[in-house]
Amino acid sequence: MRWGLVGASTIAAEHMVGALRGGGQDVHVVQSATAARASRFASDFGITAHETDLAAVISDADIGAVYISSTNEKHHGQALAAIAAGKHVLCEKPLAMTVAEAAEMVAAASAQGVVFATNHHLRCSGSHRAVRDLITSGRIGRVLSVRLFHAVHLPGHLQGWRIDSPEAGGGVIPDITVHDADVARFLTGEDPVSVVAEMVSSGMGKGVEDSVMSVWTLPSGAMVMAHESFTHAFAGSGLEVHGTEGSIFAQGVMTQQPVGDVALVTASGRESVPFATHNLYGQAVADFLSAVAGRGRPAADGRDGIASLAVALAVRRAAQTGVRQMVDYGGTV
Ligand code: NDP
Repeated sequence: MRWGLVGASTIAAEHMVGALRGGGQDVHVVQSATAARASRFASDFGITAHETDLAAVISDADIGAVYISSTNEKHHGQALAAIAAGKHVLCEKPLAMTVAEAAEMVAAASAQGVVFATNHHLRCSGSHRAVRDLITSGRIGRVLSVRLFHAVHLPGHLQGWRIDSPEAGGGVIPDITVHDADVARFLTGEDPVSVVAEMVSSGMGKGVEDSVMSVWTLPSGAMVMAHESFTHAFAGSGLEVHGTEGSIFAQGVMTQQPVGDVALVTASGRESVPFATHNLYGQAVADFLSAVAGRGRPAADGRDGIASLAVALAVRRAAQTGVRQMVDYGGTV
């Protein structure tokens, strides 16, 4: 399929152009608001065409799908335009600035009959899929709690709008908490009901939070504890899932690479859990292409993107108000 890139972004450069091409896709055109940036990106990646005008990309009947990786406030308008033009859409997280906007995007795609997916890469990893398999096969019994450790150090080349622009959707909550919300939902199959949270700007964030800790309650009564940050250089990352019959410890797995260690501890002792080490973004593309071909669904669909955003925004509201918040899924649950 022929693709248009909407946004000349770092994630497209570092991961998605390769993942799309690895899946046999034709990355034909890149659109950027800045002509020089579009031209340089096209030249750097051997992309045939470059545009500043999105309309020029989506009016091309040969373009079957777009990958949207602009700054967060642009996703909504760009996705609606692409959907209206009949393109399948793989959209970066967070889907939008509000749950209502995200729901509008997903509803538009459904009405138009195009595939719409959210690029939540972590659920594409072999490690997370192995953890989920342990849970669904009953190896740890009933899930009691999940702990998500995702406090990292934001690399210098990403310290732009993320740390100083609320208007562009900056802050660690829209950046990383959305991923953790998706992880918790993916592993447990549950939509968090309510959250409490605290957030701070601890030196990197200017006008946005750079660190947050929160606790979520699931419908089953299980609890999730999540920690996201831009400022922790040495913390490492990971997740734990604790159940009535065992615990899962996954270290170094909240990452873009297929790395880390997964272990299961039960009454029988501790065992190392093998997992597949495929490219996370390549898996997202493969699942998207299957959905376009009418086989199955994307790894994370539009509903998943609405839900992860809803949880993240509830976390921010809880931290702002100091009051426990019910998660508002905008009527989509
Ligand atoms: P970038 O900051 O690299 O790019 C986002 C947009 O900002 C670009 O499309 C470009 O806009 C503009 N831009 C970037 N650099 C410059 C510059 N030097 N000068 C002027 N404009 C610039 O963003 P990321 O790649 O980090 O993130 C893009 C999206 O992808 C976000 O929504 C983010 O949340 C998501 N993301 C997802 C990840 C995942 O694993 N799923 C990982 C990382 C990001 P334009 O093209 O219009 O000129």
